[in-house]
Amino acid sequence: MEREQLEFDVLFVGAGPANLAGAIHLKKLAQQQGREIEVCIIEKGESIGAHSLSGAVLDPKALIDLMPDFREKGCPIEETDLRDGVFYLTATGQLRLPYAPPSMHNEGCFIISLSRFCAWLGTIAEELGVNIFPGFAGVEALYDEAGRRVIGVRTGDKGVNKDGKPKSNFEPGVDLLGKVTVFGEGPKGSLIREVGKKLGIFAGRMPQVFETAVKEVIEIPAASPFLASPFTVLHTFGYPLGLNTKGGGFLYRMKENRVSLGLVVGLDYEDPGLEPYQEFLRFKKHPLIADIIRHGKVLQQGAKTLAAGGLYTMPQLAVDGALFVGDSASMLNVQRLKGIHTAMKSGMLAAETILTAVGKGDVSAATLGDYRVKVEGSWIRNELYAARNFGQALSQKGIAKFITLGAQFVTGGRGFVDPMNITDDASTLQAGRFRPSTQVQDHDGKLYLDKLTGVYLSGTKHEEDQPCHLLIPDKELCVTRCWETFRSPCTRFCPGQVYEMIQEEGGRRRLKLTPSNCLHCKTCEIKDPFNNIIWTCPEGGGGPNYSIV
Ligand code: SF4
Repeated sequence: MEREQLEFDVLFVGAGPANLAGAIHLKKLAQQQGREIEVCIIEKGESIGAHSLSGAVLDPKALIDLMPDFREKGCPIEETDLRDGVFYLTATGQLRLPYAPPSMHNEGCFIISLSRFCAWLGTIAEELGVNIFPGFAGVEALYDEAGRRVIGVRTGDKGVNKDGKPKSNFEPGVDLLGKVTVFGEGPKGSLIREVGKKLGIFAGRMPQVFETAVKEVIEIPAASPFLASPFTVLHTFGYPLGLNTKGGGFLYRMKENRVSLGLVVGLDYEDPGLEPYQEFLRFKKHPLIADIIRHGKVLQQGAKTLAAGGLYTMPQLAVDGALFVGDSASMLNVQRLKGIHTAMKSGMLAAETILTAVGKGDVSAATLGDYRVKVEGSWIRNELYAARNFGQALSQKGIAKFITLGAQFVTGGRGFVDPMNITDDASTLQAGRFRPSTQVQDHDGKLYLDKLTGVYLSGTKHEEDQPCHLLIPDKELCVTRCWETFRSPCTRFCPGQVYEMIQEEGGRRRLKLTPSNCLHCKTCEIKDPFNNIIWTCPEGGGGPNYSIV
């Protein structure tokens, strides 16, 4: 098939904070040096920010570096007065910790909506002359003839029906070529997975591990006591997950009587019956939270994974012709529950490296490898080094968690063992720990939502007549070993109700998929115990349409 080719100096894949900051920084540096550089960003979401979801408390240090006049330029900030409270929750009560570790202090940070923030960064990038193509999904990395140097990506064909045949509106994907390609696809990117396998960028690293967050923006009554409370930021642990499952809740105050509320669940959990969405509903029903959101209304819901492995899971950062930034490269600081600032800084350091490499006409791994040196010499490394065993400590059970955290606190992150081992999330389910998830039933369509109403409020849409983007290589395994051992955990860990196990006439089971509900969170590919789900990009423009989460 004839495919159009477009050539750029630099191609950024994914319009999250890392790549947007990288593209802006690159353009600014080039302007300062009087150089021309053609930069392109592609984004699978319908618009910039449509697939961006995070807590999100922003440490502005990278933003200040990138754009000291960010306020004058209209940066969308929700709240600047951050006063923290950390609470341990029991099923019916709470205990406020008298002392919160320094890593959880948020003075000087801002609460933002990541989708709005990314949309704003997109406008700044466009003003600087960056070519931005939303609605274009990168589906395949392109290599030189030797198959070693990345030379760009192919975008997905549009207008293909369920059977893979072209429809009347068929448009072939385009080959976008870049002297350097920057992969900033967020957690568990589908291109970095393939590039990683081919070029071995994860070899010798501990496995990348993840957490899934379900999050809502809720409008609460103007008279809600929370708006007059001493806190603008709440973090919780304990109920509903208990101390044997990693994770916790958050509630942040936003503008206009809105709060950002979410629960994060570590995907190394062992109980096949656990359902992160149900845990989120239980969290909302806890008296501390229920009192704050009473008479409120959910405005938007979403779900996403975050790359929580940290320093020891960071892949090789450069190969011939390509760099890896942000969550794709494990830059999130799980100890501070923040990754936007590190993602942005990584994009900026990538930009500095690229400008030199393109100027020299040498985009080999050796030259682009200067990016790793820059990361190692920056505050990213200092932050991630201090947190290098933190996620592993949280994965400990019960009281061992606190003893390990205490040891790390007094030893600057070292603790008893360094490095602490990390277990692949797909391998942690244990059949013997199955505890059927009790469903929260009293959905009211307004504040307590069932999954499908949540999907609706995420704005998720996909072209229905297209090939299924969730590949299941062995469908038989789903109804045999997976059902028999774990009772089909995909039907529970997916927050979009994409997977259902149905029984057909004659009692035969079948896994039914509704891929149009997919929130692109990637939980299924990460947590499937048989590695039998492969997430690929659906037609560009499909997926959630976040605007305030
Ligand atoms: Fe997330 Fe997978 Fe469900 Fe899509 S199908 S919402 S990626 S768990």
